[in-house]
Amino acid sequence: MKILITGGSRGIGRVCVELFAKNGHQVAFFYKTREDKAASLSESTGAEAIRCDVTSPDSVRAAVARAAVALGGIDVLINNAGISGFAFFDSITDDEWREMIDTDLSGAFYVSREAVKHMLSQKSGVIINVGSMWGKVGASCEVHYSAAKAGLRGMTLALAKEIGPSGIRVNCIEPGVIDTEMNARLSEDDMAALCADTPLCRIGTPLDVAELAYFLASEKASFITGQIIGVDGGFAI
Ligand code: NDP
Repeated sequence: MKILITGGSRGIGRVCVELFAKNGHQVAFFYKTREDKAASLSESTGAEAIRCDVTSPDSVRAAVARAAVALGGIDVLINNAGISGFAFFDSITDDEWREMIDTDLSGAFYVSREAVKHMLSQKSGVIINVGSMWGKVGASCEVHYSAAKAGLRGMTLALAKEIGPSGIRVNCIEPGVIDTEMNARLSEDDMAALCADTPLCRIGTPLDVAELAYFLASEKASFITGQIIGVDGGFAI
């Protein structure tokens, strides 16, 4: 398969790149700033690293075109790039609000809009959006993040209906607390509390999420579309 993964330089996206590449698939990934990380991943996996800011439709247009040439098409898109933020509702600035929505919601829209063109021509494809359990249950002091991730739920459902007849499946993974740099701001006590609130009593790993993405991308999931699936150890039950 030919896979495009956004936010591949670190965390969950990085492990997705490694998992698909290890299993013999052709992979291209987007990164925004961490050229060092992107270069080392490209070297270790053979995946094509492409700089792209998913908040910019122009950057996305050029980068998806480049990925399609490098891969010879696009079978699977994983919309994983994201940022998080933590602030009281009334102290979120206009810029912070816009950056969150632009990255975590509009970014997935821009990249999907370009990638789908390649899938429509071959009448098959898979889109996997990486949301968050906070898009389902809402997180205090993360109103912008929760709103963006809830938006991904709606986009997943609507797009699955619209392009299912064209042979394209669209699903959304909602991770719980996963051990990545995104959670680096949390103290040990915060992490211990989150762990205690997780019925399976542990923090998730990027591989927990990547394994579901791998399954959803595969033919084994060929009758699954429009689904929102948690990988959260039961946190959001
Ligand atoms: P990380 O912070 O570890 O990595 C984020 C990735 O997104 C990096 O590769 C980064 O690129 C990329 N990125 C950020 N902004 C942009 C942009 N504007 N354009 C292109 N790429 C961008 O995050 P995680 O791996 O933890 O998170 C991955 C996804 O999983 C996110 O959507 C996140 O919301 C979601 N998630 C994570 C959870 C967690 O607990 N970790 C829980 C629930 C959901 P660069 O390295 O170049 O900066």
